[in-house]
Amino acid sequence: MMNAVSAVTYHIVGGGIAGLACAWLLKEKHPAIRSVIYEAGDHLGGRAYSYQDKTLSRVLDNSLHAVVGANSFMSRFVKKSEWKKSPLFFDITSGQIDGSVYANQDLLLKSFCNTASKDVAPQIKRKILRSFFPFTPAKRRVWFSEQNLSQRIINVLSGYADEVCLRHKLHKIISQFGMAAQLDFGSHQVDIGANDKIILALDNLNCSKILHTIPLEHNAIVNIIYQTSQTIFLPQGSSFIGVKGGSFDWLFSNSNLLTAVISDYIPEQDNLSHLAIKIWGEIDKIRGVNSAFMPAFKAVCIKNATIKQDIINNSHRPDNAFSQYPNVFVAGDWSMKDYPCCMETAFNSAKRAINTALKTA
Ligand SMILES: Cc1cc2nc3c(=O)[nH]c(=O)nc-3n(C[C@H](O)[C@H](O)[C@H](O)COP(=O)(O)OP(=O)(O)OC[C@H]3O[C@@H](n4cnc5c(N)ncnc54)[C@H](O)[C@@H]3O)c2cc1C
Repeated sequence: MMNAVSAVTYHIVGGGIAGLACAWLLKEKHPAIRSVIYEAGDHLGGRAYSYQDKTLSRVLDNSLHAVVGANSFMSRFVKKSEWKKSPLFFDITSGQIDGSVYANQDLLLKSFCNTASKDVAPQIKRKILRSFFPFTPAKRRVWFSEQNLSQRIINVLSGYADEVCLRHKLHKIISQFGMAAQLDFGSHQVDIGANDKIILALDNLNCSKILHTIPLEHNAIVNIIYQTSQTIFLPQGSSFIGVKGGSFDWLFSNSNLLTAVISDYIPEQDNLSHLAIKIWGEIDKIRGVNSAFMPAFKAVCIKNATIKQDIINNSHRPDNAFSQYPNVFVAGDWSMKDYPCCMETAFNSAKRAINTALKTA
């Protein structure tokens, strides 16, 4: 006789960190429940993945991702020896270096929230200070991805779903008597069983299309990756520094790559190639050298990197994982009011969505 629970399927739409974490949580706590991930793209990871880049002929992360030691879920993917200390900050104008996170909190907030620090919602600031970047110095260690986001995180998490369907873009939910009855993928539909649940683990723009809600405003992030002939050492032997008085916010060094990151970037404000040249000149100032030539580089602007985390947007984020359909639940980094949008929040949203779905008859 079939076990009643094993007949239940959780349909997880979206294969980013939130969707993958949903499958992981289900497998850990309720292995009898079947999970299926439907992902629109041809890879898992959503906004955090690695790919083979043609310009630099090597594997790159779609964007450098940093994780702070206080992030309890993401910490699982980083070995003790791999954490780097709290950041140093370099002022290009004065040439001064300091390590004070208090004096540099505007830069830290801007990077955490991809939003000008003066605009960040106070509730999010509080959450960051209490849990994400707390006062305890020991928890302020940092890890950053070294073109290994997929290998280190995404591939590990991918193993927990019972089935993964790539190139499955959800077009709409077809409802019956107020309940979601079918997932419509255009070319075919998937029936939803009476005890099945649907988790929409989508980015805000796509989720709003499915649930007919108003999309939130988004901000961009730029990464400029320079491929150097050798490893470049940054001030005081640091592998990453916060930068003040320049055109970029952070500089990360690993093997023969230097990555400059700009948060809360206004697209089309500069030609990206010109910006890369200007930033290389600023990197020269930090290094105290005068380079004879520019290395090969790749400049990428990710337009809708995260939602803008200001008071207005934060007030429109959901208070819980429920949707208008009793059997559909919402996850995703944007879906947790008062939280900064990051991988750790994507995981927290998955936990909330799965717990809510499990408790809902
Ligand atoms: C440039 C950049 C830099 C970042 N830096 C950091 C950092 O340093 N540290 C950090 O912690 N976080 C960082 N983040 C944020 C982090 O990447 C996200 O918070 C996290 O990846 C969000 O995961 P998610 O699963 O909520 O959403 P997503 O990763 O967006 O996943 C949603 C998935 O749903 C899929 N999808 C969309 N529509 C449909 C549909 N209709 N049907 C089926 N599938 C669909 C998408 O293809 C995607 O795979 C950065 C993000 C960007 C873009």
